[in-house]
Amino acid sequence: MVECGNCKMRVTPVKGYNLALMVVFTLMGIIPGLVYWFYSMSGPADKCPVCGKKAAQPV
Ligand SMILES: [Zn+2]
Repeated sequence: MVECGNCKMRVTPVKGYNLALMVVFTLMGIIPGLVYWFYSMSGPADKCPVCGKKAAQPV
């Protein structure tokens, strides 16, 4: 668990996955949603699940 430097919340880093963006893409259709999901899963697990920025401050 790390503290996000951006939104100051204690979060478990996830792969580059932005919940708001995910909702938008999924609303556009299942294909854009899946494409975004696979794109997100290809990166390292160091992103804040709340704001989608890098959460790199170990607590
Ligand atoms: Zn954050």
